[in-house]
Amino acid sequence: MFPALPHLKVSRPSHPEYAQPFRTRPVSVGPVTVGSSGPVVIAGPCTVESREQTLAIARAVKAAGAKMLRGGAYKPRTSPYSFQGMGKEGLEILAEARAETGLPIVTEVLDPRLVELVGSVADVLQIGSRSMQNFPLLTEVGRFGKPVLLKRGFGSTVEEWVYAAEYVALGGTLDILMCERGIRTFANGSYDRATLDLAAVRAVRRLTPFPVVVDPTHAAGDADLVPDLAAASLAQGVHGLLIEVVMAAEDRARALCDGEQGIVPSVLRSIVERAEAFAALSRVEPEVLA
Ligand code: PEP
Ligand code: MN
Repeated sequence: MFPALPHLKVSRPSHPEYAQPFRTRPVSVGPVTVGSSGPVVIAGPCTVESREQTLAIARAVKAAGAKMLRGGAYKPRTSPYSFQGMGKEGLEILAEARAETGLPIVTEVLDPRLVELVGSVADVLQIGSRSMQNFPLLTEVGRFGKPVLLKRGFGSTVEEWVYAAEYVALGGTLDILMCERGIRTFANGSYDRATLDLAAVRAVRRLTPFPVVVDPTHAAGDADLVPDLAAASLAQGVHGLLIEVVMAAEDRARALCDGEQGIVPSVLRSIVERAEAFAALSRVEPEVLA
């Protein structure tokens, strides 16, 4: 059904120990491992907007049971006039949040010239959807050597996404988390922001041994849709969820970026509980049942 990609460093045939369909090559981030036991929930604000906001959300996501903290210090904004993130100061705030909570940090790097700087704080370097085909950036994060969370370009095919992972692998790291975050179809913002392509989760799991993380937040664009999309992702057998959080519903209107889609900590808790319930079931792959 889907062509094997045998000559790539990222494909299953290149890794005899993971050649079997759906066997996953785990990625370890400090005390957390993605792809070995149950689904890992990664959560935090869209953007580091202040020390108070980030520390409050960091404490809340830790209390809710999330295992890593995500937040952007450098933001990829469609308009150059929109808030671009706090930059270096934002990284310092993330480092403080990690020191207090112990949660590893996932944060985006946009510019190949900033890989060293962002990588000095990040435990996982996020490549955003808009950067998925920034080939020098992919090579540079691969060379840096820390784990990479590679978001799918919202206009990219599965093959293009896998080739993007190949750039990271050729750069030097195989610690890659593939992150589906919704693609552009007919979604026009009235009901959802993008279309969550859950079929791609299975395709990537078939083609590569890398853990797959789903970001229901950016696909939804609306906090209301996030819990069900997260549940659907868990049913698909994902290894992690990436979710944006606000402290309170009133904060949505105040957020400088992506406020409408942030869920509150109590909803995050219910998603973590669901993820833990999935971890307790040993999921039998349909392939194995066939
Ligand atoms: C984000 O994670 O905040 C983000 C901007 O996501 P994406 O690159 O998927 O649009
Ligand atoms: Mn966001």
